[in-house]
Amino acid sequence: MSALIPQSSDFGPLPWPTMDDIRRAHHVVRAHLPRTPLISHPTLDAGSCAQLFVKHENVQPTGAFKVRGGLNLMASLDEPTRSRGIVGYSTGNHAQSLAFAAATVGVRCIIVMPTAPNPAKARAVRALGAELVEHGANFDEARTHAELLAAEQGLRLVSAANEPAILAGVATAYVEVLEQAPDLDAVVVPVGGGSGAAAACLVAAALAPHVDVFAVQSDAAPAAHDSWRARTCVERANTTRVEGLATGAGFELTQQIMRERLTDFLLVTDAEILEAQQALLHDAHTLAEGAGAAALAAVHQHGDVFAGRRVAVMCTGANASADEIRRVACV
Ligand SMILES: *Cc1c(COP(=O)(O)O)cnc(C)c1O
Repeated sequence: MSALIPQSSDFGPLPWPTMDDIRRAHHVVRAHLPRTPLISHPTLDAGSCAQLFVKHENVQPTGAFKVRGGLNLMASLDEPTRSRGIVGYSTGNHAQSLAFAAATVGVRCIIVMPTAPNPAKARAVRALGAELVEHGANFDEARTHAELLAAEQGLRLVSAANEPAILAGVATAYVEVLEQAPDLDAVVVPVGGGSGAAAACLVAAALAPHVDVFAVQSDAAPAAHDSWRARTCVERANTTRVEGLATGAGFELTQQIMRERLTDFLLVTDAEILEAQQALLHDAHTLAEGAGAAALAAVHQHGDVFAGRRVAVMCTGANASADEIRRVACV
Protein backbone atom coordinates (compact mmCIF):
# COMPACT_ATOMS: atom_id res chain seq x y z
CA MET A 1 0.00 0.00 0.00
CA SER A 2 1.31 3.48 -0.76
CA ALA A 3 1.95 5.84 2.11
CA LEU A 4 0.62 9.00 0.51
CA ILE A 5 -2.59 9.12 -1.45
CA PRO A 6 -3.75 12.28 -3.21
CA GLN A 7 -7.13 13.47 -2.09
CA SER A 8 -9.37 16.33 -2.98
CA SER A 9 -9.93 18.05 0.35
CA ASP A 10 -8.72 21.31 1.85
CA PHE A 11 -6.38 19.31 4.06
CA GLY A 12 -4.18 18.05 1.24
CA PRO A 13 -3.03 14.45 1.00
CA LEU A 14 -3.61 12.38 4.11
CA PRO A 15 -1.21 9.58 4.99
CA TRP A 16 -2.58 6.12 5.62
CA PRO A 17 -1.58 4.87 9.07
CA THR A 18 1.15 2.22 8.98
CA MET A 19 1.30 -0.82 11.27
CA ASP A 20 3.99 1.06 13.24
CA ASP A 21 1.52 3.91 13.77
CA ILE A 22 -1.07 1.37 14.87
CA ARG A 23 1.32 -0.36 17.29
CA ARG A 24 2.24 3.01 18.82
CA ALA A 25 -1.45 3.81 19.11
CA HIS A 26 -1.94 0.50 20.89
CA HIS A 27 0.48 1.62 23.62
CA VAL A 28 -1.40 4.91 23.99
CA VAL A 29 -4.77 3.17 24.20
CA ARG A 30 -3.51 0.49 26.61
CA ALA A 31 -2.28 3.19 28.98
CA HIS A 32 -5.88 4.38 29.42
CA LEU A 33 -8.23 1.49 28.63
CA PRO A 34 -8.44 -2.23 29.33
CA ARG A 35 -8.84 -4.65 26.42
CA THR A 36 -12.54 -5.18 25.63
CA PRO A 37 -13.95 -8.73 25.62
CA LEU A 38 -14.53 -10.83 22.49
CA ILE A 39 -17.23 -13.30 23.45
CA SER A 40 -19.16 -16.16 21.87
CA HIS A 41 -22.80 -16.31 22.88
CA PRO A 42 -24.28 -19.75 22.04
CA THR A 43 -27.88 -18.58 21.85
CA LEU A 44 -26.85 -15.80 19.47
CA ASP A 45 -25.19 -18.36 17.18
CA ALA A 46 -28.41 -20.34 17.13
CA GLY A 47 -30.06 -17.40 15.36
CA SER A 48 -27.49 -17.37 12.54
CA CYS A 49 -25.66 -19.98 10.49
CA ALA A 50 -22.25 -18.69 11.57
CA GLN A 51 -20.03 -18.94 14.63
CA LEU A 52 -20.10 -15.44 16.02
CA PHE A 53 -17.64 -13.56 18.21
CA VAL A 54 -18.99 -10.31 19.58
CA LYS A 55 -16.39 -7.60 20.18
CA HIS A 56 -17.84 -5.67 23.09
CA GLU A 57 -16.74 -2.11 22.40
CA ASN A 58 -20.03 -1.15 24.02
CA VAL A 59 -18.36 -1.62 27.42
CA GLN A 60 -15.81 1.16 26.86
CA PRO A 61 -16.02 3.89 29.52
CA THR A 62 -17.51 6.26 26.93
CA GLY A 63 -19.82 3.52 25.66
CA ALA A 64 -18.22 3.30 22.21
CA PHE A 65 -15.03 2.31 20.36
CA LYS A 66 -14.34 5.86 19.19
CA VAL A 67 -12.46 6.67 22.40
CA ARG A 68 -9.53 4.70 21.01
CA GLY A 69 -9.19 7.19 18.18
CA GLY A 70 -9.69 10.21 20.42
CA LEU A 71 -6.91 9.13 22.78
CA ASN A 72 -4.47 8.59 19.93
CA LEU A 73 -5.37 11.88 18.26
CA MET A 74 -4.73 13.70 21.53
CA ALA A 75 -1.35 11.98 21.89
CA SER A 76 -0.43 13.19 18.38
CA LEU A 77 -1.00 16.93 19.02
CA ASP A 78 1.91 19.30 19.54
CA GLU A 79 2.12 21.59 22.56
CA PRO A 80 0.93 24.85 20.90
CA THR A 81 -2.15 23.04 19.58
CA ARG A 82 -2.86 21.53 22.98
CA SER A 83 -2.65 24.93 24.62
CA ARG A 84 -5.30 26.35 22.25
CA GLY A 85 -7.62 23.37 22.24
CA ILE A 86 -9.72 21.33 19.85
CA VAL A 87 -13.19 21.55 18.33
CA GLY A 88 -15.20 18.59 17.10
CA TYR A 89 -18.68 18.07 15.63
CA SER A 90 -20.70 15.00 16.27
CA THR A 91 -24.07 13.44 16.83
CA GLY A 92 -22.61 11.91 19.96
CA ASN A 93 -19.98 9.21 20.33
CA HIS A 94 -17.16 11.03 18.56
CA ALA A 95 -17.91 13.94 20.90
CA GLN A 96 -17.60 11.81 24.01
CA SER A 97 -14.41 10.31 22.68
CA LEU A 98 -12.79 13.72 22.14
CA ALA A 99 -14.07 15.03 25.47
CA PHE A 100 -12.74 11.96 27.31
CA ALA A 101 -9.36 12.18 25.57
CA ALA A 102 -9.05 15.95 26.08
CA ALA A 103 -9.85 15.52 29.77
CA THR A 104 -7.06 12.96 30.22
CA VAL A 105 -4.49 15.62 29.23
CA GLY A 106 -6.32 18.80 30.33
CA VAL A 107 -6.93 20.21 26.83
CA ARG A 108 -9.82 22.60 26.07
CA CYS A 109 -12.49 20.85 24.00
CA ILE A 110 -15.52 22.38 22.24
CA ILE A 111 -18.14 20.06 20.80
CA VAL A 112 -20.73 21.20 18.27
CA MET A 113 -23.84 19.01 18.14
CA PRO A 114 -26.99 19.46 16.04
CA THR A 115 -29.68 21.15 18.18
CA ALA A 116 -31.67 18.95 20.57
CA PRO A 117 -29.06 16.17 20.77
CA ASN A 118 -29.60 12.82 22.48
CA PRO A 119 -29.75 14.07 26.12
CA ALA A 120 -27.67 11.18 27.44
CA LYS A 121 -24.87 12.01 25.02
CA ALA A 122 -25.03 15.74 25.74
CA ARG A 123 -24.90 15.08 29.48
CA ALA A 124 -21.92 12.76 29.05
CA VAL A 125 -19.98 15.35 27.04
CA ARG A 126 -20.60 18.03 29.67
CA ALA A 127 -19.72 15.61 32.48
CA LEU A 128 -16.37 15.04 30.80
CA GLY A 129 -15.69 18.77 30.99
CA ALA A 130 -16.16 19.75 27.33
CA GLU A 131 -18.01 22.89 26.19
CA LEU A 132 -21.14 21.92 24.29
CA VAL A 133 -22.44 24.16 21.48
CA GLU A 134 -25.78 23.19 19.91
CA HIS A 135 -26.03 24.37 16.31
CA GLY A 136 -27.81 23.33 13.14
CA ALA A 137 -30.45 20.82 12.15
CA ASN A 138 -28.07 17.98 11.31
CA PHE A 139 -24.52 16.67 11.29
CA ASP A 140 -23.49 18.67 8.23
CA GLU A 141 -24.71 22.00 9.63
CA ALA A 142 -22.95 21.27 12.91
CA ARG A 143 -19.75 20.66 10.95
CA THR A 144 -19.97 24.01 9.17
CA HIS A 145 -20.31 25.77 12.52
CA ALA A 146 -17.37 23.86 13.99
CA GLU A 147 -15.25 24.96 11.02
CA LEU A 148 -16.18 28.56 11.76
CA LEU A 149 -15.27 28.26 15.45
CA ALA A 150 -11.95 26.64 14.56
CA ALA A 151 -11.08 29.50 12.19
CA GLU A 152 -12.16 32.19 14.65
CA GLN A 153 -10.39 30.78 17.71
CA GLY A 154 -7.39 28.96 16.25
CA LEU A 155 -8.64 25.60 17.48
CA ARG A 156 -7.70 22.26 15.95
CA LEU A 157 -10.75 21.10 13.99
CA VAL A 158 -11.14 17.36 14.39
CA SER A 159 -12.87 15.62 11.50
CA ALA A 160 -15.02 12.57 12.11
CA ALA A 161 -13.12 10.37 9.70
CA ASN A 162 -10.41 12.18 7.70
CA GLU A 163 -7.95 11.80 10.59
CA PRO A 164 -5.03 9.37 10.30
CA ALA A 165 -4.37 9.46 14.07
CA ILE A 166 -7.99 8.55 14.80
CA LEU A 167 -7.81 5.75 12.28
CA ALA A 168 -4.66 4.37 13.90
CA GLY A 169 -6.31 4.51 17.32
CA VAL A 170 -9.49 2.83 16.12
CA ALA A 171 -7.37 0.15 14.43
CA THR A 172 -6.23 -1.09 17.85
CA ALA A 173 -9.65 -2.72 18.27
CA TYR A 174 -8.92 -4.94 15.25
CA VAL A 175 -5.44 -5.83 16.49
CA GLU A 176 -7.18 -7.04 19.65
CA VAL A 177 -9.80 -8.98 17.71
CA LEU A 178 -7.12 -10.87 15.79
CA GLU A 179 -5.20 -11.57 19.01
CA GLN A 180 -8.36 -12.83 20.65
CA ALA A 181 -9.57 -14.96 17.71
CA PRO A 182 -6.57 -15.76 15.50
CA ASP A 183 -8.51 -18.18 13.25
CA LEU A 184 -11.25 -15.81 12.20
CA ASP A 185 -12.74 -15.87 8.69
CA ALA A 186 -14.44 -12.48 8.61
CA VAL A 187 -15.08 -9.29 10.54
CA VAL A 188 -18.23 -7.20 10.14
CA VAL A 189 -18.07 -3.47 10.87
CA PRO A 190 -20.80 -0.80 10.96
CA VAL A 191 -19.99 2.37 9.01
CA GLY A 192 -20.75 6.03 9.52
CA GLY A 193 -17.65 7.96 8.44
CA GLY A 194 -15.83 4.71 7.84
CA SER A 195 -12.95 4.89 10.34
CA GLY A 196 -13.81 1.50 11.84
CA ALA A 197 -14.12 -0.32 8.53
CA ALA A 198 -11.02 1.36 7.08
CA ALA A 199 -9.05 0.49 10.21
CA ALA A 200 -10.23 -3.12 9.97
CA CYS A 201 -9.02 -3.17 6.35
CA LEU A 202 -5.55 -1.89 7.29
CA VAL A 203 -5.10 -4.35 10.15
CA ALA A 204 -6.44 -7.34 8.23
CA ALA A 205 -4.23 -6.55 5.23
CA ALA A 206 -1.14 -6.48 7.46
CA LEU A 207 -1.86 -9.22 10.00
CA ALA A 208 -4.47 -11.57 8.52
CA PRO A 209 -4.83 -11.21 4.76
CA HIS A 210 -7.24 -14.18 4.60
CA VAL A 211 -9.80 -12.41 6.80
CA ASP A 212 -12.69 -10.81 4.88
CA VAL A 213 -13.81 -7.37 5.99
CA PHE A 214 -17.48 -6.46 5.52
CA ALA A 215 -18.89 -2.97 6.03
CA VAL A 216 -22.52 -2.29 6.94
CA GLN A 217 -24.76 0.75 6.67
CA SER A 218 -28.43 1.50 7.05
CA ASP A 219 -30.23 1.78 3.71
CA ALA A 220 -31.70 5.01 5.11
CA ALA A 221 -28.25 6.66 5.03
CA PRO A 222 -26.27 4.90 2.29
CA ALA A 223 -23.68 7.60 1.41
CA ALA A 224 -20.63 5.52 2.36
CA HIS A 225 -22.03 2.41 0.70
CA ASP A 226 -22.87 4.28 -2.50
CA SER A 227 -19.48 6.08 -2.45
CA TRP A 228 -17.72 2.73 -2.19
CA ARG A 229 -19.69 1.23 -5.07
CA ALA A 230 -19.23 4.38 -7.22
CA ARG A 231 -15.50 4.55 -6.32
CA THR A 232 -15.90 8.29 -5.64
CA CYS A 233 -17.34 10.23 -2.69
CA VAL A 234 -21.04 10.98 -3.13
CA GLU A 235 -23.73 12.64 -0.99
CA ARG A 236 -26.98 10.90 -0.12
CA ALA A 237 -30.15 11.58 1.86
CA ASN A 238 -29.67 10.69 5.51
CA THR A 239 -32.90 9.65 7.20
CA THR A 240 -31.79 6.77 9.43
CA ARG A 241 -32.62 7.02 13.10
CA VAL A 242 -29.43 5.09 13.86
CA GLU A 243 -27.18 7.87 15.10
CA GLY A 244 -23.71 6.39 14.66
CA LEU A 245 -24.46 5.57 11.03
CA ALA A 246 -26.09 8.90 10.13
CA THR A 247 -23.73 10.60 7.68
CA GLY A 248 -24.68 12.27 4.42
CA ALA A 249 -21.43 11.95 2.45
CA GLY A 250 -18.48 9.62 1.96
CA PHE A 251 -15.13 10.62 3.51
CA GLU A 252 -12.10 10.61 1.25
CA LEU A 253 -9.50 8.93 3.48
CA THR A 254 -11.62 6.05 4.69
CA GLN A 255 -13.15 5.49 1.26
CA GLN A 256 -9.71 5.18 -0.34
CA ILE A 257 -8.72 2.50 2.13
CA MET A 258 -12.01 0.63 1.81
CA ARG A 259 -11.72 0.72 -1.99
CA GLU A 260 -8.41 -1.09 -1.70
CA ARG A 261 -9.32 -3.85 0.70
CA LEU A 262 -13.01 -4.16 1.63
CA THR A 263 -14.59 -7.50 0.70
CA ASP A 264 -18.14 -6.17 0.37
CA PHE A 265 -20.47 -3.46 1.66
CA LEU A 266 -23.87 -4.62 2.93
CA LEU A 267 -27.05 -2.67 3.64
CA VAL A 268 -29.67 -3.36 6.30
CA THR A 269 -32.86 -1.55 7.29
CA ASP A 270 -33.44 0.36 10.53
CA ALA A 271 -36.06 -2.28 11.46
CA GLU A 272 -33.53 -5.11 11.00
CA ILE A 273 -31.10 -3.19 13.19
CA LEU A 274 -33.72 -2.94 15.93
CA GLU A 275 -34.24 -6.72 15.79
CA ALA A 276 -30.49 -7.23 16.12
CA GLN A 277 -30.44 -4.92 19.17
CA GLN A 278 -33.13 -7.12 20.70
CA ALA A 279 -31.11 -10.26 19.92
CA LEU A 280 -28.06 -8.75 21.61
CA LEU A 281 -30.12 -7.88 24.65
CA HIS A 282 -31.65 -11.36 24.95
CA ASP A 283 -28.84 -13.60 23.77
CA ALA A 284 -25.70 -11.60 24.59
CA HIS A 285 -27.14 -9.89 27.69
CA THR A 286 -25.85 -6.56 26.47
CA LEU A 287 -27.17 -3.15 25.48
CA ALA A 288 -26.23 -2.02 21.98
CA GLU A 289 -27.29 1.24 20.41
CA GLY A 290 -28.52 0.83 16.83
CA ALA A 291 -25.10 1.31 15.26
CA GLY A 292 -23.71 -1.28 17.66
CA ALA A 293 -26.16 -3.89 16.36
CA ALA A 294 -25.87 -3.17 12.62
CA ALA A 295 -23.11 -5.74 12.10
CA LEU A 296 -25.22 -8.47 13.67
CA ALA A 297 -28.19 -7.36 11.57
CA ALA A 298 -26.06 -7.83 8.44
CA VAL A 299 -25.06 -11.35 9.49
CA HIS A 300 -28.73 -12.18 10.07
CA GLN A 301 -29.84 -10.75 6.73
CA HIS A 302 -27.01 -12.17 4.63
CA GLY A 303 -26.87 -15.71 5.99
CA ASP A 304 -25.61 -17.01 2.65
CA VAL A 305 -22.44 -14.91 2.92
CA PHE A 306 -21.60 -15.97 6.49
CA ALA A 307 -22.86 -19.58 6.73
CA GLY A 308 -20.37 -21.89 8.41
CA ARG A 309 -17.79 -19.18 8.97
CA ARG A 310 -16.14 -17.75 12.09
CA VAL A 311 -17.25 -14.14 12.14
CA ALA A 312 -16.35 -11.24 14.45
CA VAL A 313 -19.27 -8.89 14.90
CA MET A 314 -18.31 -5.41 16.06
CA CYS A 315 -20.70 -4.27 18.79
CA THR A 316 -19.44 -0.73 18.57
CA GLY A 317 -21.51 1.17 21.12
CA ALA A 318 -24.09 1.23 23.90
CA ASN A 319 -25.24 4.84 23.93
CA ALA A 320 -28.95 4.35 23.29
CA SER A 321 -31.38 7.12 24.17
CA ALA A 322 -34.17 6.42 26.69
CA ASP A 323 -36.67 6.10 23.81
CA GLU A 324 -34.41 3.69 22.02
CA ILE A 325 -33.96 1.55 25.14
CA ARG A 326 -37.76 1.37 25.42
CA ARG A 327 -38.07 0.25 21.77
CA VAL A 328 -35.40 -2.40 22.26
CA ALA A 329 -36.97 -3.74 25.46
CA CYS A 330 -40.46 -3.81 23.90
CA VAL A 331 -40.72 -7.29 22.36
C1 LIG B 1 -19.33 6.24 15.03
C2 LIG B 1 -19.95 4.96 15.25
C3 LIG B 1 -20.01 4.00 14.24
C4 LIG B 1 -19.51 4.26 12.85
O1 LIG B 1 -18.12 4.37 12.89
P1 LIG B 1 -17.28 5.14 11.76
O2 LIG B 1 -15.90 4.93 12.17
O3 LIG B 1 -17.72 6.57 11.78
O4 LIG B 1 -17.65 4.51 10.48
C5 LIG B 1 -20.57 2.77 14.54
N1 LIG B 1 -21.06 2.50 15.77
C6 LIG B 1 -21.01 3.41 16.76
C7 LIG B 1 -21.58 3.04 18.08
C8 LIG B 1 -20.46 4.65 16.55
O5 LIG B 1 -20.42 5.54 17.53
